[in-house]
Amino acid sequence: MNMTPAPKAVVVGAGPVGCLSAIALAKLGWDVVVYERRPDIRADSLQASSCEIPARIPRPRSINLTLSARGIAAVQSIDSTLVERLLYNAVPLQGRMVHHLKGNPTPQQYDRQGHCLYSIERGLVNLIILETAAAVKNISIKFSHKAVGVDFKNNVLRLCNSVTGQEFDENFDLCIGADGSNSIIRHFLMRATQMEYSQHYLSHEYVEIRLQAGKNSSGDTFLLDSDHLHVWPRGNFTVVAMPNKDKTFTCALFAPREMFDNLQYPDALIPFFQAHFPDLLSLLGEKRLLSAFQNNPRSQLITVKANLYHKGSVLVIGDGAHSFVPFFGQGLNCALEDVRILSALLCEEKGGCDPSAIHRVFKHYSESRHEDLIAIGDLAMDSHLKMRRSVATWSYTIRAYIDNLLYALSESLFVVKLSQTIFGPESTGWIPLYSMVSFRPDISYSAAKKKAEHQKRLVDSVGISLAILGLGYILHAFINLNKLL
Ligand SMILES: Cc1cc2nc3c(=O)[nH]c(=O)nc-3n(C[C@H](O)[C@H](O)[C@H](O)COP(=O)(O)OP(=O)(O)OC[C@H]3O[C@@H](n4cnc5c(N)ncnc54)[C@H](O)[C@@H]3O)c2cc1C
Repeated sequence: MNMTPAPKAVVVGAGPVGCLSAIALAKLGWDVVVYERRPDIRADSLQASSCEIPARIPRPRSINLTLSARGIAAVQSIDSTLVERLLYNAVPLQGRMVHHLKGNPTPQQYDRQGHCLYSIERGLVNLIILETAAAVKNISIKFSHKAVGVDFKNNVLRLCNSVTGQEFDENFDLCIGADGSNSIIRHFLMRATQMEYSQHYLSHEYVEIRLQAGKNSSGDTFLLDSDHLHVWPRGNFTVVAMPNKDKTFTCALFAPREMFDNLQYPDALIPFFQAHFPDLLSLLGEKRLLSAFQNNPRSQLITVKANLYHKGSVLVIGDGAHSFVPFFGQGLNCALEDVRILSALLCEEKGGCDPSAIHRVFKHYSESRHEDLIAIGDLAMDSHLKMRRSVATWSYTIRAYIDNLLYALSESLFVVKLSQTIFGPESTGWIPLYSMVSFRPDISYSAAKKKAEHQKRLVDSVGISLAILGLGYILHAFINLNKLL
C-alpha cells in the first residue's frame, strides 16, 4: 500500500496563537512540530480534560486578558471544547465601572444585548491552549528550542537547543511564525522581502498591582464588584482592574514614563494614590502598593505595524505580525481571529497541502488581512484616550446614550454563521463601535471602523443642527423680548 507521509508544518512559538495554529493545522491533516524557546510551563495538576484551575499557574509579567466574542468565535471554529475550558476559568464582565475622584462609581454596560467580555489570567490562557495542543496526536511540542534563522528558498528553519547549545536544521512544507512582538521570523521576513514595517513605543508604561481577595464568613470574596472591569480615569493616567477566578483583581497603573520615574519613592507614591485613587488605596493597603512598585516590572507598550506577512511557505501571525496597545482589549482576540481566517483559507484549498496552494493561501491572507490589522491598531490607539479621560466625561455619556438608543431602534440584528463565510455581508442598521469590534465577529475590523466613522458623522451633524436650532430659538426669544421692552 502506498502511504504518502502527511505534510509537515513547523510553528515557532507555543503562545496561545502558536498552539491554536498547531491545533488548526493538525485538524487539516498536517504533522505539526511546535518549537518554543522557553522551558515547559505546564503545571502537573492541569490535565487536558479537566476544567479545574491548576494549583500552580505560571504568572507572566502582564495584566490579565479579556476575551471577547471575536476571540471566542475563533477558538470555537477550531475546537469547541477548548472554548468551554477557557470560559470555565474566566469571569464574565457586563461592563465597566468608572470610579470618579468624587461621587459614586458609575456602571457602563458594554452592550445592550447583554454580551459580556471574559476576564482570564493570561497565564491560564497560555496553559489551557498549550495543554490542548499537547494532547493532539499529530502535534509535538519541543520546549527550550529557539528559532534562530529561516531559509525561505529551501524551506528550512534553523534552531538552537538552549539546553545543549546545539544548532540544527528542520525542514518544513509550511512554517508559521507565532513568536510574539519581537518575532525572529518577522525579522528574517523583513530581510528577505520589501516588507513595510514600523514600531512605536507609547509614552505610557504600566505596573501591575494585585488586589488580594477579601475574607468573609463563607471564605474568600471579591473586594470590588466582579461583574465589571474597573477604571479610574484621571486624564493623563489611569488604573484598570480586572477580576480573576480566585477572587483577586489584577490592577495596572498606566502612566507616562516620567511620572513613573517620580513614583519610585515611597514618599511620592503613597500621597499620589491618596490624592488620585483613595478608594483603591484603602483596599490595597500601603504595604502592598509599595511592594508592588518595588518588585513588579515597569513594562512598555508597543505598536507594531507591518505590510506583507509572508514569503513562500512562511507566514507570521499574532503579535509576530501586529502588536497594539491593549486599550481595546483586542490583541489576543485579533490574533486568534488570524488563526480562524488562515484555517478557513486553508480549508478552501482542501488543507493547502501542496506548495502552490500554500502560496495562494498565504498571499490571499497577507493581502486581505492587512486592512483589518491596521484598523484595529488605530482603534486601539484611539481607545487609549477614552480609557484615561473620555469615559468619565458627559459628552461620552451622551454620545453613548444616543448610540445605544439608535442601536435599540435599529432592527437589523442578524448574525451570520462564521462557518459559512469569513466575514458576513455588509451589515446594516446602527451598531455602536464597541459592540461591532467586541461582539460581532461577523463584521471585520475595517468594516466596523468605517461604519462607526459614518455613524459618528451622522451624530455630529445632528448635534450641530440641533445646536444651531437651539441658538436660533434663543436669539429669536431674545429679539422678541427686546421688542417687548
Ligand atoms: C498589558 C497588556 C494587556 C493586554 N490585554 C489584552 C486583552 O485584554 N485582550 C486581548 O485580546 N489581548 C490583550 N493583550 C494582547 C495579548 O497579550 C497578545 O496579543 C497575545 O498574547 C499575543 O499572543 P501570541 O501568541 O501572538 O504571542 P505571545 O503570547 O507573545 O507568544 C509568543 C511565544 O513565542 C515564543 N518565542 C518568541 N521567540 C521565539 C523564538 N525565537 N523561538 C521559539 N519561540 C519563540 C515566546 O516564548 C512565546 O511563548 C494585552 C497585552 C498587554 C501587553
